[in-house]
Amino acid sequence: MDRTHLQRTLVLLKPDAVQRGVCGEIIHRFERVGLNIVGLKMAWADKAFAEKHYFDVKERHGQKILDNLTEYLIMGPVIAIVLEGVDSVAIVRKMAGTTFPFDSAPGTIRGDFAHISKDYANKHERNVANLIHASAKPEEAEYEINLWFEKKELHSYERLDDKHTF
Ligand code: ADP
Ligand code: MG
Repeated sequence: MDRTHLQRTLVLLKPDAVQRGVCGEIIHRFERVGLNIVGLKMAWADKAFAEKHYFDVKERHGQKILDNLTEYLIMGPVIAIVLEGVDSVAIVRKMAGTTFPFDSAPGTIRGDFAHISKDYANKHERNVANLIHASAKPEEAEYEINLWFEKKELHSYERLDDKHTF
């Protein structure tokens, strides 16, 4: 099957997902929905790299949130994944849930594995440990995939269930 029309997106299983031992459960959800894992590795980002990944967060949320966020992202290794499928950016965002777990519907990753609210995070100046990063837009996905992966680390292949998925 020609897969060139499919879309790719970047997921990070953030340090809380790794340290809680729930990465398998999360990855399982992506496989089950029919998305192909085309790249996967463990990486431990430093502050400079985390700021490259979150290059627009200062502008969107301010320095304090960026500082909390980069500290959170570099507190341990992450699992970086590239997923491929139909409108994968949008479907993975839907599966991830909204930014704050309190507002995320049950059945989403953030809604099923956490519950912290925006009010709580703001009041206590805490980062929001929400388990997963997912690219928000196709342009963001392209930038982030190039940041985290080399071309030779990405692999396209057919799946036995392709005829049912597509
Ligand atoms: P998303 O991860 O849903 O795309 P953003 O890109 O807006 O959300 O923000 C990146 C990350 O910054 C969020 O996942 C969350 O961990 C953190 N964050 C966003 N807003 C806040 C906030 N008000 N307080 C603490 N952390 C925040
Ligand atoms: Mg974002």
